[in-house]
Amino acid sequence: MNNLLETPIEYLKGVGPQRGELLRKELNIHKYRDLLNLYPNRYIDRTRYYKINQLQNTPTEVQIVGKIIHIKTVEFGKGKKRLTATFIDDTGEMELVWFQGIKWIRESIKVNFPYVIFGKINAFNGQFSMPHPEMEGLEEHKASLRSAMQSIYPSTEKLSNKGISNKVINKMMQQLFIETHSLFTETLPDYLIHELQLIPKNAALFNIHFPKSQELLSKAQFRLKFEELFFIQLQLITKNLIRKHKIKGHPFGNVGDYFTDFYKYHLPFELTNAQKKVLKEIRNDLGSNAQMNRLLQGDVGSGKTIVALMCMLLAMDNGFQACLMAPTEILANQHFNGISELAKSLNVNIKILTGSTKTADRKTIHEELENGSLHIIIGTHALLEDKVKFKNLGLAIIDEQHRFGVEQRSKLWQKNEIPPHILVMTATPIPRTLAMSLYGDLDISVIDELPPGRKPIQTVHRYDSNRLKVWAFIKDEIEKGRQIYIVYPLIQESETLDYKDLMDGYESISRDFPLPKYSVSIVHGKMKPVEKDAEMIRFAEGKTNIMIATTVIEVGVNVPNASVMIIESAERFGLSQLHQLRGRVGRGAEQSYCILMTGHKLSNESKTRLETMCKTNDGFEIAEVDLKLRGPGDIMGTQQSGVLNLQIADLVKDRDILQLARHHAIKLLKEDASMTKPEHKKLREIFIEMGKKKNIWNYIS
Ligand code: ADP
Ligand code: MG
Repeated sequence: MNNLLETPIEYLKGVGPQRGELLRKELNIHKYRDLLNLYPNRYIDRTRYYKINQLQNTPTEVQIVGKIIHIKTVEFGKGKKRLTATFIDDTGEMELVWFQGIKWIRESIKVNFPYVIFGKINAFNGQFSMPHPEMEGLEEHKASLRSAMQSIYPSTEKLSNKGISNKVINKMMQQLFIETHSLFTETLPDYLIHELQLIPKNAALFNIHFPKSQELLSKAQFRLKFEELFFIQLQLITKNLIRKHKIKGHPFGNVGDYFTDFYKYHLPFELTNAQKKVLKEIRNDLGSNAQMNRLLQGDVGSGKTIVALMCMLLAMDNGFQACLMAPTEILANQHFNGISELAKSLNVNIKILTGSTKTADRKTIHEELENGSLHIIIGTHALLEDKVKFKNLGLAIIDEQHRFGVEQRSKLWQKNEIPPHILVMTATPIPRTLAMSLYGDLDISVIDELPPGRKPIQTVHRYDSNRLKVWAFIKDEIEKGRQIYIVYPLIQESETLDYKDLMDGYESISRDFPLPKYSVSIVHGKMKPVEKDAEMIRFAEGKTNIMIATTVIEVGVNVPNASVMIIESAERFGLSQLHQLRGRVGRGAEQSYCILMTGHKLSNESKTRLETMCKTNDGFEIAEVDLKLRGPGDIMGTQQSGVLNLQIADLVKDRDILQLARHHAIKLLKEDASMTKPEHKKLREIFIEMGKKKNIWNYIS
């Protein structure tokens, strides 16, 4: 029966070559199957019939039973015509109006014949009218397959102009169900349908197009959403399993002196339980024969650096080198300093390689990397240059994954026959739902706990008009010995303008916080890296009180004594960026503050962002709000948004179904990884078919 679904769409009765062409072009419908899978956008309740004398307060679209008693063509203006008809029921009369297709409609309409009309109601001078009503003979209406809830399908202007109205699509759908006898193969195993009390595939498809009731519609939607997400999860999880199977990695079997020594004698603090947990997860991966591909998520300040170092020590214990790649020079420096400090009492050779590394040093680094005497290299993109060759790279750690594409990740791979283990660290929390869908092929570890003793940052929103009070507040803080960040937005398109804002800000702050009592630093994108670093260092060493900056300080900078973050034009920042910026403070023992400055004019979305920031410090909660505000495509960038071309499920709204689907996909694959059990036969067929299609999973690799 399902072979029928492969039939080209023009063969469906009522379609033909011309409409077939339109359907292909406009809705990407090529076969019966594609039409079947064109799910309605929404539904209109057609269980209710209205009387004409009830039209005062009705929904915009109504249906009425009655008849036409009079019809005429009216000329208005130059050569313009409209067709009007008087429509009555036993309570009153109204007008039907057509501006197009007049001739055809006039010929086909029957006077004094019972019709059901449906459409939008207009009221004018106490008279009601309905332009271009959908009309159906009462008998035909009663007999039609159409259900009480009427489906409204996605459409395009071209389609409606060419007469493929929603009604026509409905008709086609009915025809499709007739020709296929509404028999569609079940896709899910019986036990799952039973366990989850899903309605059968047939019933689901029928009710998604012709819902008999709201209740059946909900069941149909649930069933189809589950199925969609379930198959995606099967693909992603299988892919991950295959990778673990096929891609060999260096097994780090030994826990040797470097690691043990550090763990026993040089830990500067006790690890949090979350840090211990992720270390264990990572060690499990590293100990196996498969290449690790793991995403380490941890909010700013959650302590990812020490986890990174300990993983690198494990690599060294097994005779391998390790590298850590950061997106910016400042960050690379910071990592270099932090890791060198942590490892200072170990006998480890650690170096840094960035764009500004001097030629002589660069040469030494290249040599040492090749002969293996350099254990840990930290750097920027410079690490990806062809000249950089490792003796035996065993572990590559990538910080802030969003800035390195998949391509770059794989560039590190090519440096060895057996690829290094990959650990991607990110402080941008990705909501779990999204992570599961997008990174199903990466394993995920989460540090979901901050080191003890941190006071939650207090966040407030202040209007520019209250600036004097804010200044007074920061003077107090400086008095107490604290340091302050003031951040200005930098948006590429208007860089000059932003730069002007920044410089104006710098001038007025320098005036309000004059030397010699105060000293003010500034860091922005137009400065040379050396100057930037020098200024950052001055601030980090406490030589200046205020750091004025653009978003260059967004990632990674660690100055525990800084306790106030002021964000100017905060409405111009996205949520995740605001959260990242806020993470620059609250790193010491003191109470820290984040002040979001804005003008009075704010969009609703900006207000939501600001409120969210004031309400919570939890990066995951913020990420969830962000996801709702912006949609998944925006968050992940356009390149990845294709992943989310779901047919019916919605990653935000249907997260519970996603969890359920994932749970059952994992369970199924645990029991029958190759889907060879008889009850999984159909599943396997569909699975293979999906895998062949060039679609979402292709670039999640
Ligand atoms: P991030 O995850 O943002 O990279 P870091 O690794 O920079 O965080 O750690 C933030 C700060 O917390 C650092 O000053 C670090 O020394 C400290 N830290 C990390 N782990 C712990 C811990 N378990 N106990 C106390 N302080 C810790
Ligand atoms: Mg960090």
